[in-house]
Amino acid sequence: MVRLGRLKEALSVAEGDPELVRAQLQAFARQVPLLYFILLVNTVALALTHANSHVNRAPAWLAVYVPTMLCIVCVIRCIGAWRRHRAMTRDKAVPELRRLIRLAGLLGIAFSLWALLLFPYGTAYEQAQVAFYIATSVIGCVFCLMHLRAAALVLLSVVSVSFAGFLVFTHEPVFIAIAIDMVLMGIALAFIVELYHRTFVGLVDAQRDLQESQQKTQRLSDDNFRLASIDSLTDLPNRRSFFASLRALSEQALADGGGFNVGLIDLDGFKQVNDIYGHASGDLVLQEVGLRLLALADPQIFFARLGGDEFGVLAQKKLPDEALVELGQRICAALSQPYQLAGNVAELSGTIGWATFPEAGATVAQVFERADAALYVGKESRRGTPIIFSTEHETRIRRSSLLTQELRHANLDTELFLEFQPILDVLTHRALGFEALGRWHNTRLGMVGPEEFIRIAERTELILNVTEVLLHKALVEVARWPAGLYLSFNLSAIDISTSPRARRLIDIVLASGVPPHRISFEITETAVTRDFEQARSALTMIKQAGCRVSLDDFGTGYSSLSYVHRLPFDTIKIDRGFMTDVDTNSASMKIVKSVLDLCRNLNLECVVEGLETESQAQTVKALGARAVQGYLFSRPMRAGAVAEWLAAAREAAPVDAAESWR
Ligand code: C2E
Ligand code: MG
Ligand code: MG
Repeated sequence: MVRLGRLKEALSVAEGDPELVRAQLQAFARQVPLLYFILLVNTVALALTHANSHVNRAPAWLAVYVPTMLCIVCVIRCIGAWRRHRAMTRDKAVPELRRLIRLAGLLGIAFSLWALLLFPYGTAYEQAQVAFYIATSVIGCVFCLMHLRAAALVLLSVVSVSFAGFLVFTHEPVFIAIAIDMVLMGIALAFIVELYHRTFVGLVDAQRDLQESQQKTQRLSDDNFRLASIDSLTDLPNRRSFFASLRALSEQALADGGGFNVGLIDLDGFKQVNDIYGHASGDLVLQEVGLRLLALADPQIFFARLGGDEFGVLAQKKLPDEALVELGQRICAALSQPYQLAGNVAELSGTIGWATFPEAGATVAQVFERADAALYVGKESRRGTPIIFSTEHETRIRRSSLLTQELRHANLDTELFLEFQPILDVLTHRALGFEALGRWHNTRLGMVGPEEFIRIAERTELILNVTEVLLHKALVEVARWPAGLYLSFNLSAIDISTSPRARRLIDIVLASGVPPHRISFEITETAVTRDFEQARSALTMIKQAGCRVSLDDFGTGYSSLSYVHRLPFDTIKIDRGFMTDVDTNSASMKIVKSVLDLCRNLNLECVVEGLETESQAQTVKALGARAVQGYLFSRPMRAGAVAEWLAAAREAAPVDAAESWR
C-alpha cells in the first residue's frame, strides 16, 4: 500500500507547492531544445535507413510521412515550450506541468507506436536499429526530463513496457534479452530519476529558506533604518535624516548649479506647556506639531524634528524670498492654532529662520548656522514669524564672535563696572533702593551694552565670573548706602541653574557683611522657564538665606499669573514695554492695572519699570503703583554719583515731586 502511495505521488504533480513546480519547469526549460534535438536526430536517422532500405522496405507513409509529421510536432513544441517555461508564473505552473505529463505520455506512445510499426520491415540490422533507437531515445529523453519526475516516469513506463512486451512476443532470444535488459535499465533509470528529484526538492527548499531569511534580514534592516531615521514621537524624519537630506541636497546643488532653502523652526512657549501641564501634554503638543507640519509637506517640502521643540524644513527647490516668506507664514499660522490638551488649551507659536544655499552659506554647516542665526534674531525680535537670513545677521554673528573672544580674554575685574538706577516710592518720592546694571568697557571695543555682553556671557558660561565680579562690586557700594536702601541685582538663568551656583551667591552676600534682606535678586521670566523645578529650588534657597527675589520684565514671556505664584517671589517688576503707551492705550492700562491688583492680592511688591514721562507716572500712580523706576526719575548713574543724587532727592522731596524730577 505504501509503495502504491509512493508510486502515485511520484506520478502526480506537487499541487500544494506551486513554487517547486515552477522551479521544475524553469530548470526543464533549459533542456527542452536538447530533448527535441535527441528525438529529431534519432527519428531522422531511423526514417532515412528505412526509407532507403532495399529489402522489405516499409511503405512511404510509415517511413517518410509519419516521422516527418512527428518531427514537425517536435519543432513546434520545442519553440513553444522553451518560451513558456522560462517566464512561468506560480499560478500557471501546476496546469502546465499536468499538460506536460500528458504530452510526454502521448509522444511516448506516438514514437513507440511508429517504431513498433516499423520493426517488421527491413533486415535484422534495421530491426536492431529500431531497438537501439528506442533505447537511446528513451534514455536521452528521460535525462532531459530529469527535473519533471512524473513526466520522466510516465515516458519511461510507456516506452519500456510497450517495447519490451513487444520484443518478448517476437520469441527471438536476442530480442527477449534486449527486452529484459530494457526493463532492468528502466528500473535503474527510475531510481536515478527519484534520487535526482529528491535532491532537486532539497535544493529548492534550501533556496527558499535562504530567500526567506534574506527577506527577513531585509525587513529587519528596513525596520532598523526606519527607527534610526524617524523620530519616534512625531513620526517625522529625525535629525540624522535631516542632515543626510541636507548633505544630499547640497551635493546635488553643487553638481547641477541649483540651490535649496533650509528653515529652522523653534516653538515659542513650549517650555511653559511642559512645566505647567506636564511632560505628557508636552509630548501631545509635539505630536500635534508633527501632524500640522506633515499636512504642509509635499514632495518638495521636507520636515524633520531636530530635537526638543526644534524642527527643520527643507525646500528642495530654491524658492524666491517672497515664496519663502509665504511658506513660512503658512507654517507659523498652522503652529499658532490652539492646541487641545486633556481638559486644557495651550497657545504656542513658532518662529522660523530661513537660509538659502548657496547664497547664505556654501557648506551644509554654514547654511545651517545661518538659518540658526536668522532664527535667533527672529526669537529675539519677531517671534511667531518667518525671518530670512540677511547680511545684517551676518554682521551680528561676526560681532558676537568678536565679543566672545574679547570677553574670554578680558580682565573682568577692571573692565566691568556698575551703574545704579534708583527705585522710588511714587507717593513719598523717597528712594527705596537701586538696581545695579552691569557695564563693560573694553579697550578695543569701547562700551558694550549689557543686553549684548550678558547674552554672550550666558552662552559661554562666562556669566558665572561676570556675576561674581559684579556682585562683589555691588555689595561694596551697598555697604556705603543708608541702611534703609536695598540693592536689586540681576541674575541670569545660568546663575541659578544648579544648587552649588545659587549657594555661591548666598556665600558672597553673607561674606560681604551686608544684611541679606537688603539684597533682592532679579530673575527674568524666560530664565525661570528654562528649568522650572531647578529655578524654584534655587530661589527657595536664596529666600531661606534671607535675600529677596524679584521677577523681572514680567509680561514679556508666556507666564501665566498662576505660574508666577508657584515661585517664591517677593516682587514683580512690570516690563517697561507696557509703559510706552500706558497713558494713551487702554489695553496697556488694563494690563498694568490687573498686574498691580494681582500683586496686591498675592501680597507681592510691584515695581513699575521704564517710566519716561510725567503722564505715564501719573497714570500708574492712579492705577495704584507705589514703587517706580525710569529715566523720568533718573538714568542709571555711576556708583560715585549715588550719594549726591540721594542728597538732591532728599532736598527736593518735600516739594512737588513731579517738579523735582524734571
Ligand atoms: P532690566 O533688568 O530690565 O534693566 C532695566 C533696563 O531698562 C536697563 O537697561 C535700564 O537702563 C533701562 N531703563 C531704565 N529706565 C528706563 C526708561 O525709562 N526707559 C528706557 N527705555 N529704558 C530704561 P540696561 O542697563 O541696558 O540693561 C538691560 C538689561 O540687561 C537689563 O534689563 C537686564 O536684564 C540686563 N542686565 C543689566 N545688567 C545686568 C547684570 O549685571 N547681570 C545680568 N544678568 N543682567 C543684567
Ligand atoms: Mg532688572
Ligand atoms: Mg526689567
